This record gives sequence, structure tokens and C-alpha cells, in this order.
Amino acid sequence: MPIYEYYCYDCRRRISVFFRSFSEAQEGEATCPHCQGRRLRRLVSRVRVLRSEESRLESMADDPALLSGLESEDPRALAHFMRRMSEEMGEPLDDELSEVVDRLEAGESPEEIEQSMPELAGEEAPGGDLGNDLGDDL
Ligand SMILES: [Zn+2]
Repeated sequence: MPIYEYYCYDCRRRISVFFRSFSEAQEGEATCPHCQGRRLRRLVSRVRVLRSEESRLESMADDPALLSGLESEDPRALAHFMRRMSEEMGEPLDDELSEVVDRLEAGESPEEIEQSMPELAGEEAPGGDLGNDLGDDL
């Protein structure tokens, strides 16, 4: 959910206006929550985004080049996507993922990278027989 900051000429306040989506923020008319005035000037180009899953995905869906790259399985698009994800989530890539992203950017396919980094497959870690234990109990 994007939030834009405005200056209201009627009540001379700095206000924040919430929009339900980025497209609404672009088309929609903002109204001052204090005086219902419509003479607003958008203050900053930068938007603050409330971190909801929905808005993160929406902001990424706003990038057609990225989406078409992902559809054509372009490794660089995937690398770009992973970097964006990490930025949107506010979580830096860990060492393993950084390596993956670097290699994707170098043009390696995800399959090649997965094969050379078996730990990425996860779930099948040695000694990870939790599933078996559970199975015995059932
Ligand atoms: Zn106002």
C-alpha cells in the first residue's frame, strides 16, 4: 500500500495519503484528510511502502521488462528479480544467494547453478530424517 506525502494549500499542512494500489495512486485524486481540500501538491517522488506481501508483488508486477525476462527464463532477469526481492523485503541476500545471483548475472542457467550447488536443493540434508521419525509415530 503506497503512501504519498502532499502539501495541502487549504489548511497548509503536510499530509500523508494512502492509496490501495500503485495504479490508484497514479490515477486517483487525493483529498486532504483534514479539510477535504483537493488543492494538494505531491511533495516527494519517493513513496513509502507499507510492507505487505501484496504491495511488494504489485510493485514488481509494475515492471514489464522484468516480467517478460522471467517468462523467457533469462538468467539476468532472474538475478535482477532476486535482487529486487531482497530490496523489497529489506533482507540482504545471504552468501549462498549472492553467489547464485552473481552467476545468473554472468549468464549461467539456474539448472547449471543448482547442479553445482547441491545444498540449494535443500530438504534432503544428510541426517534430516525428521520425516522418518514422524512416519514411525503415525
Ligand atoms: Zn487540508
